[in-house]
Amino acid sequence: MPTIDLPPWFLSVILAAFGLVLGSFANVLIHRLPQEEPEDRNVATKPSHCPSCKAPIRWYHNIPLLAWIWLRGKCAACGWRIPVRYPLVELLSGLIFAASPWLFPFGTLIWLKGLICAYALLVLFFTDLTEFILPDALQFPLMALGVLFTLPQIFWPAHATRIWLGSNQLLSVDTFFNGLQAAPAWHLFGQPVDWKTSLIGLILGYGGPALFNQIFKWIRKTDGLGMGDFKMLAWIGAFWGWGPMLGILFGGAFLGTLVGLPLILMRRATGKTMLPFGCALALATPPIVLYGPGLWTAYLGLVQ
Ligand SMILES: [Zn+2]
Repeated sequence: MPTIDLPPWFLSVILAAFGLVLGSFANVLIHRLPQEEPEDRNVATKPSHCPSCKAPIRWYHNIPLLAWIWLRGKCAACGWRIPVRYPLVELLSGLIFAASPWLFPFGTLIWLKGLICAYALLVLFFTDLTEFILPDALQFPLMALGVLFTLPQIFWPAHATRIWLGSNQLLSVDTFFNGLQAAPAWHLFGQPVDWKTSLIGLILGYGGPALFNQIFKWIRKTDGLGMGDFKMLAWIGAFWGWGPMLGILFGGAFLGTLVGLPLILMRRATGKTMLPFGCALALATPPIVLYGPGLWTAYLGLVQ
C-alpha cells in the first residue's frame, strides 16, 4: 500500500508551481485552439510568440505571473497591452493545482480526474468567453478519457493509498475509486461512476440538449445552444455520470438566467443575444462535483 505522508501544504506549494507553468500553456490553448487556420492551431511545436507583433517571447519573459508584472503588462517588443486574462489564467491554474490535495486525496485517480476536469473547464471557460468556441480538439479526447477513467476500478478495486491528514492521522482511500465525493470530508463518498453511468452520461449529455434544441428551434426559430455546449455536457457526463451531468445542466441554465435576465431587463440584450453557455456550465460543475451528494440530499429535504 503506497503511503503519501507529505503534509498537504507542502504538496500545495509543489503543485502550485506546476499549475503556474501549465497555466501559461493554458493561455496558449485559449489563444490558438479557436483559430481558423489549422497551422495556427498548433499548440505543440510552435514556440511562444506575441499575438500582436509575432515576435518570439524570450524564456524570461514567459515566467508565469512574474513576467507580466515585470513587463507591466506590455509586450517587450511592441508594447502591446497583454490582456489581464493572461496572468489571471496562470493564477487560476496555480490555485486549482494548489487546492487539489485539499479537495481530493492526492495521488489517487479521483484527484487526477478532478484536476484534469478543472484545468479543461478553465481553458473552455475562456475560449467560450472570448471566441464563443468550445474546441473539439479538447472535448473529444475528454469524452474518451471520461469513459476510460471508469476502467481501473474494475481491475484494481481493492488497491488502497494512505494519505497524511495532519496531526499524525493516516487515511486509507481506494486508489482507483471513481465517483463523486463530498469534499473535504473524504469519508463521505458518493456513488462510484461505473462504465454504464459514464456511457449514459455521454449519450444523454449530447442527445438530451440536442433534442431540447430541436424543440427550441421550432418555437423560437433560433438556436438556443451551440453544438459545443452539447459536446461539453457529453464529456462532463462521461466524467461524472449522467445524474451529476443533469445537475450541472440545471445549474448552468440557472446561472445563465441569472446573468441573462437582468441584461434583457436593462435592454442590453434581447432573447436572441448569444451568451456563452459553456462559461455557465464551467462554473456550475465544481459545486456539483464537490458537493453534489450533499446538495441532492438537501434538495430532497426541501421537496418533502
Ligand atoms: Zn508584441
